[in-house]
Amino acid sequence: MSYDCVVVGGGHNGLVAANYLARAGLRVAVFERRGVLGGCCTTEELLPYAPGFKVNGGAIDHILIQRTPIIRDLGLERFGLKYVSLEPMFEVPFGDGRVLPFYGSLEKTVDEFAKFSHRDAQNYMRLAKEWLKQESLLEALMLDAPPKISELLGVKGIGRALFRSSTLSALPDAVSVDFNTMVRTIVISANQLLNEEFEDEHVKVGLSAIFSLIFSTMSPSLPSSGLMAIMHTMLYKTGLKRPLGGSGRLVEALAASLKSYGGEVYSGAEVRKILVEGGSVAGVELADGRRVEAKIVVSNVDAQRTLTKLVEPGTISDDLQRKLRSLRITSYGMTFHAALHTLPEMSLLNGGRIQSPTSGKLIALDTLENIEKAYHQANSTRTLSAEPLLAVNFPTTYDPSLAPMDKHVLYCWAQFVPDDSPMIWEKDYHTFREDAYRKIFERLTKYWPSLQDLIIDSTVETPGDLEQRIWIPRGNTQHIDPTLEQMYYYRPIPELSHYRTPIRGLYLTGAGTHPGGGISGMPGYNAAKTILKDLRG
Ligand SMILES: Cc1cc2nc3c(=O)[nH]c(=O)nc-3n(C[C@H](O)[C@H](O)[C@H](O)COP(=O)(O)OP(=O)(O)OC[C@H]3O[C@@H](n4cnc5c(N)ncnc54)[C@H](O)[C@@H]3O)c2cc1C
Repeated sequence: MSYDCVVVGGGHNGLVAANYLARAGLRVAVFERRGVLGGCCTTEELLPYAPGFKVNGGAIDHILIQRTPIIRDLGLERFGLKYVSLEPMFEVPFGDGRVLPFYGSLEKTVDEFAKFSHRDAQNYMRLAKEWLKQESLLEALMLDAPPKISELLGVKGIGRALFRSSTLSALPDAVSVDFNTMVRTIVISANQLLNEEFEDEHVKVGLSAIFSLIFSTMSPSLPSSGLMAIMHTMLYKTGLKRPLGGSGRLVEALAASLKSYGGEVYSGAEVRKILVEGGSVAGVELADGRRVEAKIVVSNVDAQRTLTKLVEPGTISDDLQRKLRSLRITSYGMTFHAALHTLPEMSLLNGGRIQSPTSGKLIALDTLENIEKAYHQANSTRTLSAEPLLAVNFPTTYDPSLAPMDKHVLYCWAQFVPDDSPMIWEKDYHTFREDAYRKIFERLTKYWPSLQDLIIDSTVETPGDLEQRIWIPRGNTQHIDPTLEQMYYYRPIPELSHYRTPIRGLYLTGAGTHPGGGISGMPGYNAAKTILKDLRG
């Protein structure tokens, strides 16, 4: 077999890159090791005793991709991709029965804040407006290879960088951004920022839950998690969108689009080796021994595995290998899935009421201090936090196609897990898993007491399970941590931040490359752009 370009891994970023390359006229083939395409973006029947119940094996919320031209460029709606918007986007119920909803409209959300504290409502309006400008600026740097930090220093530099990324629409925002506060917001922890700016604990916890459960793969207690304060305002531009039919629909549409450009997709086709001859890539070898020739190989697999395992040891320098092995890759959370006979009623104290059964419920803790303690406790006890933070969704409430008639599915993301949990998983898989299942289940039944009687089948996926099923290192949903030293020009490391590798013709894409993880397609879009630029010479 021979192609112009082979893509290793059929995650959504690999498929986005493949689409743009095939659209430009290259003969492209994608090789995915699993029988299902999509990596962290699938909709599958993961519950063996509940046939016909489909759950999202990874992502559920599609936020960042709404800010790209990908859906429109590739005409993905022609291939069945249709998004639904949830309103409110999320609701945060508290132990005292009160509920804080977050709407797609900033003004409406601020009105909700005012029910807790007028001062906090005013502060949030002021801060969110500034964060929205800062977010525009950061967003403008996302749809291209990241500029060097030296290029960015100073407003002129930012202007040039934006010009380079041809995202001029963000320029007015860039000029009026308060860089002094922006830099501080990016480097401090989200929880410290919230403590400084807000007085009411419901408001602080509500925001911390959004930063942590929706926008990050790190604890809101860690330095540089403040960046999420800026990033979460993107929600006021996109709303909260999910594909009808589940996350896998995006991937199905990408695969169909790729085929329409003449591209080919092979699933159940693991790449065992990336072949290098005389410093240039020559193709790949599949696990069944077949050789596929290509002058361009794009790896959707994380950089560490691509360059230290898939290419022959010794092909890259010891220095680079050391840097790749030193990447910060931690575990952060895990999932709980259930198939249900009917939808359970939510029970809140003091007559508390939710706005909508379709919006996600973010179950946090009652104070920021307790959220911090939950994170530290997970690491000190090497188990899931005793009272895990949960993002709970019943996707069948807005999309009945995911289960047999009148039945429901529950999707829940839970944190915090110890930073290195797959290691524990290797040693004591059953204890960790059973303990995590019990803790998540107990917390769920506090809010949905009838759940116990409604479950047809249920399961948890620990970071170790996620690593084993999707091959994401340590179950890290973004391939590597989104800490500041591994973002922008530093993602995954400066030498590799422009999608190129020291091996001619071998490129990187995926969550571990700029601008990072999440359903964005941006790393795939940017990698394809770089390759096409290199081909033009
Ligand atoms: C449980 C969970 C919940 C999440 N929730 C959200 C969310 O709600 N919203 C959001 O925006 N993001 C979410 N994310 C993050 C987001 O899904 C990922 O960051 C993103 O999908 C990564 O896409 P990718 O294409 O870069 O890589 P991946 O999806 O990891 O794809 C890489 C692919 O490469 C394949 N592969 C690996 N090695 C080989 C090989 N040797 N040969 C062939 N194929 C190979 C893998 O099987 C995989 O399919 C979540 C992730 C998880 C796991």
